[in-house]
Amino acid sequence: MDTMKRTHTCGALRSEHVGSTVTLNGWIHRNRDHGGIHFINLRDRYGITQIVIDQDAPKHLQDLATELKFEYCLAVTGLVRERPGTMKNPDMTTGDIEVAAAEIQILSRCETLPFMVDEKSEAREDLRLKYRYLDLRSFSMQRNIALRHQVTWATREYMTRQGFFEIETPTLIRSTPEGARDLLVPSRLQPGKFYALPQSPQMFKQILMVSGLDRYYQIARCYRDEDARGDRQLEFTQIDVEMSFVSREDVLSTLEGLMVHVFSAAMQIDLPRPFPRFSYREAMDRFGTDKPDIRFGLELEDITETARKSGFRVFADTAEAGGTVKALRVPGKAEYSRKQIEELEKAAKIYGAKGLAWFKVTTEGLEGGSAKFLQDVGKELLDCLQAVPGDLVVMVADTWNTACTALGAVRSALGRDLGLAEAGAFRFCWVIDFPLFEWNEEKKGWDPMHHMFSMPQEAFLATMEDDPGAVMGDLYDLVCNGYELASGSIRIHDPEIQKKVFRIIGFSEEEALERFGFLLNSFRYGPPPHGGIAAGLDRLVMIMAGEPSIREVIPFPKNTAGISPLEDSPSTVDEAQLRELRLTLSNPEGSGEA
Ligand code: ASP
Repeated sequence: MDTMKRTHTCGALRSEHVGSTVTLNGWIHRNRDHGGIHFINLRDRYGITQIVIDQDAPKHLQDLATELKFEYCLAVTGLVRERPGTMKNPDMTTGDIEVAAAEIQILSRCETLPFMVDEKSEAREDLRLKYRYLDLRSFSMQRNIALRHQVTWATREYMTRQGFFEIETPTLIRSTPEGARDLLVPSRLQPGKFYALPQSPQMFKQILMVSGLDRYYQIARCYRDEDARGDRQLEFTQIDVEMSFVSREDVLSTLEGLMVHVFSAAMQIDLPRPFPRFSYREAMDRFGTDKPDIRFGLELEDITETARKSGFRVFADTAEAGGTVKALRVPGKAEYSRKQIEELEKAAKIYGAKGLAWFKVTTEGLEGGSAKFLQDVGKELLDCLQAVPGDLVVMVADTWNTACTALGAVRSALGRDLGLAEAGAFRFCWVIDFPLFEWNEEKKGWDPMHHMFSMPQEAFLATMEDDPGAVMGDLYDLVCNGYELASGSIRIHDPEIQKKVFRIIGFSEEEALERFGFLLNSFRYGPPPHGGIAAGLDRLVMIMAGEPSIREVIPFPKNTAGISPLEDSPSTVDEAQLRELRLTLSNPEGSGEA
């Protein structure tokens, strides 16, 4: 028998179709028997339609109805009819009608389900990943996949209109460190040699600028062999952009325009422009992070000068030693218990604070915690913080960096616990003027804050080697709701400046040539000034979808151990495959020790 091919999708039928005979194809979402009348909710990507096998339906249909189970794939032909008034379901787009089955074909059967489609909260994540094909049938996953498609489509639309070419760059490349560990691929044709999967198309996009291609973008797969973390994946996708003859403003305005277009096209949301900007220093000072969530206030205050005058030794000594004392006023939370304050302290300690000082504000003044040490500056503190009775004040005294980040962590925890972020809001901002280098305590040397191809700001060019820590870079990050969504920089196109940067981060000229020679060589042939940025596509879609993890917006992700339970990768390979690659495993059992 030929398959009865659908005339409509399961989301299409409305009152106007009443009286027509239609065929639907789909899966059994729900299936119930009300005293001889069978109701089937037939589902496809587009929606759900109620199918009815009436009591007086032909016997073969009645018999078939008893056979039907969840997720059987069916073809149903029948008459569209209006549902009786009380049976109408305003929550369903097809809720006014039902289809009275005249013929049903079972296209395929489904075994006992490991979990119910659409009941993802109950299913363990590994089970969901193992049976990803079932998980992807759920409306929530289909909605996320659809959103992801709309975002990439809108990206292509916008970038093409702006004169960008989408250009593919290779995914088997030379191993070149870009901050993370490379994923390696052994070469059969060149035994003993390896390709790396690109951590990003960084060098190739810069070379495309040398080639005069001027405006490049790519929805690019990137690979980083990093340890598992909540929203990290070994492979992820970037919207990668590079432009020639541009200043920072051009790059920021291109990305801003892209975000505005994407939100409007995919979610019908108008993002207000321009996005606010904070220097790195200001973001750290006010929010205690370079990824500020500006959906809520609760800003940090610098109380170093007041603390200096206090009799509280910890504070006064920190101020004297050139450190910083930061305070956060939590309105109306004087009621917090010691235990709740200890929880906040834990968040601060994760970021290196030695402790979290606190006091409560009452009509009498400061009370509890460190209040007794701060009475001498109490009035000044309250004025400076604009604190009123009922408030809780928490404080960290440390180096500027630790005081900011530790109290920033407390701010984030409070934001989360108190539900301060406006629901459904998307608050973008730029963070600019980052330091070019950051100190790496382990290697006792400088690392690039972003990557080594980023341009120092003009004012620091002459003196950068004398005081690398003071050098500001032409770097920028796009942040949304506390997530870093994109980062980029104006690039170095002058080999002399590049050499200085290599020297500062401890790369010898030979080593630099050995690793990045192909890029540096291209710079000998008239490179244009250029700059770019890359936005994390997975994270963007995650934020738009309101999901807690990027695994919810990647069709086939790995779990946090880097395993794909679906096809069970990574896996061992045949001896023959290894021989061909001239590889031998020193420890085939893989205990982790080579
Ligand atoms: N390649 C950089 C990254 O992946 C982004 C950029 O500078 O364009 O972070």
